[in-house]
Amino acid sequence: MNGNDIITLGPGLEKPWEITGQTLNTECTPHELRSTLSAPRGSSFPCPECGELCKAHDLKEKTWRHLNFFQHHCYITADVPLIKCNDHGVQRITVPWARKGSKFTLLFEQAALLLVREMPVLAAARIIQIPDKKLWRIVSHYVSESLAKLDLSELKAIGLDESSAKKRHNYVTVLIDLDRQKNPVVFVVPGKGQDTIHQFKRFLTEHGGTADNILEVTCDMSRLFLSGIRKHFSKAEIAVDWFHIVQIFTKAVNKVRVLEAKKRRLPKATRWAVLKNEESTTLSENERNALAELNSMDFFTAIAWRGKERLRWVRRAATPQAAKWRLSNFLLCMAETDLTRSPVLKPIISAIETVIRHRLAIEARCQSGHSNARLEGLNSIFQAAKARARGYRNPETFISMIYLIASPVGNLLKST
Ligand SMILES: [Zn+2]
Repeated sequence: MNGNDIITLGPGLEKPWEITGQTLNTECTPHELRSTLSAPRGSSFPCPECGELCKAHDLKEKTWRHLNFFQHHCYITADVPLIKCNDHGVQRITVPWARKGSKFTLLFEQAALLLVREMPVLAAARIIQIPDKKLWRIVSHYVSESLAKLDLSELKAIGLDESSAKKRHNYVTVLIDLDRQKNPVVFVVPGKGQDTIHQFKRFLTEHGGTADNILEVTCDMSRLFLSGIRKHFSKAEIAVDWFHIVQIFTKAVNKVRVLEAKKRRLPKATRWAVLKNEESTTLSENERNALAELNSMDFFTAIAWRGKERLRWVRRAATPQAAKWRLSNFLLCMAETDLTRSPVLKPIISAIETVIRHRLAIEARCQSGHSNARLEGLNSIFQAAKARARGYRNPETFISMIYLIASPVGNLLKST
């Protein structure tokens, strides 16, 4: 290997290709280093379909952007021949240093992907000095290529949740493999509800899995998800995620506080205090006092808050039996509280009704050997994906990023 090889293609330079020219254009900024590759006259090239060596004719000049050489932009130019294969007819050959249809060399694309795994796409695009749109195109190509190789034949337990690329818009549904410790995301799709479940079923079959293998699905209490799962994954036991149950209750507590605040002056610092957990270390002195005052002075907000804390107590049960018993106890205790005495308490009544409606699924959650943390962890994945896609966020880019940072696709990319 000589100096020329190093600055051009490394392993991408294969026979019959050789470097036949190199120029450095210093009249533009940044300077451009242009290499020309050629194959000797009469060379044969493999058919892209079958690999059969065929004679070349009808050359067409093409140019690829290559890795920067220090501060210089590098380009490779070559006359790419057509070949005529006996079985596959006339075809333009695929060059060994770039994939079909790309204006970048493979080495350039690999370097770009390395950066994108570590920083926002916008920043990576600035470093390698290409438009961010083009970088996104590279990313989505490799993500979908790696995704095609994903093997889901062992998938048995899934969890699902949704997020939005922008505030309250462009929802995407994300499915994780509950048994996969690292990079758990296996499917991301635009939209939410029953149709996304159907699309996942199709994806699963295309990747070696079957719907009948899925024995557990953990999700929130959205009716559309639930009916989709019953329809398409009939063998699965549905478990409702604790995160969502507590979230529903926390929202109800907040509503009660807002309603009550219209009628009665609440202790200072109530607002954030009631959203926190009783034993939370982030409770300030004022917030502790607010909780004590709420409890001692018979506020409706205190009733709602105690309900939420009791539900958290159910969640902390050490065994499935204990959880079942605690859940009954929780519902009994709520039934004994007169919640109809003021319309302010209405949000709590409907939160309890939700718990009753999903009681079996909540108990199934307690039976499950899968930890609650899995779905809760999705939230930080969503935040990271949003940050990486900053400035260029739509469902497609958001989805590519989630795959890149939290699915096995990231590992597959490393090995290319
Ligand atoms: Zn052929």
